[in-house]
Amino acid sequence: MAEAENFIQAFIDEDLAAGKISAIKTRFPPEPNGYLHIGHAKSMFVNFGTAEKYGGTCNLFFDDTNPSKEKTEYVDAIRRDIEWLGYHWEKEVYASDFFDIIYAYAEKLIEMGKAFVCDLSAEEIKATRGTLTEPGTESPYRGRTPEENLRLFREMREGKYADGEKCLRAKIDMASPNINLRDPVIYRILRAEHHRTGNKWCIYPMYDYAHPICDYLQGVTHSLCTLEFEDHRPLYDWVGLTLGFSPKPRQIEFARLNLTNLVMSKRYLKKLVEEGTVHGWDDPRMPTLAGLRARGIPAEAIKDFCARIGVAKAQSECEIGYFEAVVRDWLNLHAPRAMAVVSPLKLTIVNYEGEEQVDFEKNPLEEGAGTRPVVFGKELYIEQADFSLDPPPKYHRLKLGGYARLKNAYIVRADEAVTDENGNVVEVKCTYIPESRSGNDTSGIKAKGVLHWVNAATAVDAELRQYDHLLRDADYAGQDFSERIRTDSEHIFAAKAEPFLAEQAGSYQLMRTGYYRAFKEGEKLVLSEIVSLKDNFNK
Ligand code: ATP
Ligand code: MG
Repeated sequence: MAEAENFIQAFIDEDLAAGKISAIKTRFPPEPNGYLHIGHAKSMFVNFGTAEKYGGTCNLFFDDTNPSKEKTEYVDAIRRDIEWLGYHWEKEVYASDFFDIIYAYAEKLIEMGKAFVCDLSAEEIKATRGTLTEPGTESPYRGRTPEENLRLFREMREGKYADGEKCLRAKIDMASPNINLRDPVIYRILRAEHHRTGNKWCIYPMYDYAHPICDYLQGVTHSLCTLEFEDHRPLYDWVGLTLGFSPKPRQIEFARLNLTNLVMSKRYLKKLVEEGTVHGWDDPRMPTLAGLRARGIPAEAIKDFCARIGVAKAQSECEIGYFEAVVRDWLNLHAPRAMAVVSPLKLTIVNYEGEEQVDFEKNPLEEGAGTRPVVFGKELYIEQADFSLDPPPKYHRLKLGGYARLKNAYIVRADEAVTDENGNVVEVKCTYIPESRSGNDTSGIKAKGVLHWVNAATAVDAELRQYDHLLRDADYAGQDFSERIRTDSEHIFAAKAEPFLAEQAGSYQLMRTGYYRAFKEGEKLVLSEIVSLKDNFNK
């Protein structure tokens, strides 16, 4: 057995050594009330990854105990995103598959004298729950006999009572230091159409009660969840012990992934979609897996990131720059190189005629990637920022009378700038040095600047999109998300690109510009920023 990589694996090793279990079974438990986000990728990494490591299996478990918020659209999106990350679930299971058994267990609890029907309203229950320092007050209905409870509970199921009129509570301990054990509600009356069971039920189990039962029925050995469930573990264990589950699944909590400059809660993400701040759940600025995919972030980079941040119990916030650095490292190794000009400026080589092929390495970091031919010609586009009429000291790009190299082609000298009526440079006329061809330069001219370019004769128009983080830094305007949201986080440029980008969708390093995803939107070529070229993250 490989050595434990984190505290969860250490617990599992312990359970295996003690002979409590033989095969590992986990589950990934999304609630289908929104799209999965990068935080869920960590949860999948933990649940699927742990099962994989031990040669066990992981189920996809839809926690659909809350009918009013759940939708089939989300179920489909969740499946798609898990598959995209490359995880395989053994079974697809819904909490609602077990509603009959969960109900039967509730009757069993009633018969055992461990649950009672309570007529207090939700507000009254809340008001009598006590505080962290004060015990709660017992419900006046706590003493009902099992027979009466059973009759009332069945009537609840039959629809005899209005929503909220009654509920079923576990009978545990109103003086417990853990508020979750103070006779928690385990069933409520709710007339809502369920996305799978329709109108069959008008009572629904609460998550804390249903979850240990669903885990047990699936044969889950380790129920891995995030830290906010730590205080719920005593209830999880109470359900299992009271109902005599054997072997009882073990719940282990780990810290959630938090990333700076990203909203992660589904509630907020939903708001962004509904208010039109973003184009949809799959907007490339969204931290959803659909958004990250649309952005061009490879699934492998996401898993690599999860592996690098590790699994711990301590809460922390990870810099978004670290995530981007991992993505950049991955793309640097795997993304082919291409050229596009973000803000095109025409460059005419006065003394050049015809055209010729120059070779570009597809990816200098990928062994055996080879080269591809690019057609060089008389009229090119360079970046506006690569020419200056009024250059600062040590300016190595093009200036009048100065030299610069056109990447993998020739050195040119700028001779004349054509300006429009506003004084903006619209074209630069230059001379090329025939002896300066890359790889065979005998010119003796030193040109420090190397500029990327595209051939005007073959260039295609592209819409180039750049993005800011959706969320400003935490110190921007307090902690409220809505104040920190950048509504102007998408920037669009009319770019010129190498023609092959319109034919071969994919992720590229646009030389000197950044990592971009190329794809067609109708007839239009879109170049959408994945991450910037430069690493501004301080490792
Ligand atoms: P949200 O607050 O975004 O709605 P959630 O916890 O309600 O998240 P679920 O669909 O219930 O979302 O989550 C499924 C699983 O993913 C849970 O086990 C949950 O703990 C885990 N999870 C959710 N967010 C994160 C996160 N940021 N980091 C790690 N795990 C997470
Ligand atoms: Mg949840």
